[in-house]
Amino acid sequence: MTFQIKDRVAVVTGGSSGIGFETVRLLLSQGARVAFCGRDETRLARAVAMLRQLFPDADLLAHACDVLDKESVQHFADAVRQQFGSVDMLINNAGQGRVANLEDTADEEWLIETRLKLFGVLHPLKAFQPLLEKSDIASMTCVNSLIALQPEPHMIATSAARAALLNLTHSLAHELVEKGIRVNSILLGMVESGQWRRRYELRSERDLDWKAWTARIAERRGIPMKRLGRPQEPAQALVFLASPLSSYTTGSCIDVSGGFSRQI
Ligand code: NDP
Repeated sequence: MTFQIKDRVAVVTGGSSGIGFETVRLLLSQGARVAFCGRDETRLARAVAMLRQLFPDADLLAHACDVLDKESVQHFADAVRQQFGSVDMLINNAGQGRVANLEDTADEEWLIETRLKLFGVLHPLKAFQPLLEKSDIASMTCVNSLIALQPEPHMIATSAARAALLNLTHSLAHELVEKGIRVNSILLGMVESGQWRRRYELRSERDLDWKAWTARIAERRGIPMKRLGRPQEPAQALVFLASPLSSYTTGSCIDVSGGFSRQI
């Protein structure tokens, strides 16, 4: 069975690294036409070069864009309309988390975090909705985190903002069903990616290599599968939810946390 997305158009925000990059790669491997964005031009160019090596004939568009800048997202959507005409799958992945407890989180940082989680989805949705409405398989799929349901005190603002996003995506699923757009999300645990690489560079346990360091995190946090996820794993869940394989699914979440969830 394939994902049934050959020649379909996908947009991935934050596609230049980690989970987003693996999602772009998987979409291209399935014959989809893909547009992706990120803020840093150098990172984008590096991602394009890697993807071009793997898929020399791919219909690919990379565009520098900050999802929090409404005008810049609209320019991205205009570029996508020019190259592809319509969009079948919007995958909202761009973002990052904030490691800080109550004491270390200033008022402004609460606002920054909430703005990122909500407008990181709302701006792309508003800009791409007219293109999604042209599709007969339209979907929007969001990367979210298990901390939306299971808050972590050391990520207090991110947890609250993730819960808000989970609530929002549920409302959007109900509102957009009439427009023929399915809306779903994935709930991540801890996944090896750019964010964790950056934390690894700053680690205090300098004697531990990457494998030992991530295994220790998994052990300390009590992840039943005893390892962090690999970016390919959430990518597969994202593409499944975005694709016609999940045609009767909206307003739902897939847990990609290695069994870390305590919810029933
Ligand atoms: P990476 O740092 O590897 O990738 C993040 C991607 O998003 C990059 O391409 C980055 O490019 C882009 N990006 C970040 N902010 C923006 C922005 N404002 N506008 C446009 N692009 C942006 O991280 P991950 O792959 O780990 O993260 C992917 C998503 O998963 C994020 O939303 C993250 O919060 C979420 N997540 C990850 C977890 C994990 O354990 N890895 C756990 C829970 C959630 P650039 O910096 O150039 O803009």
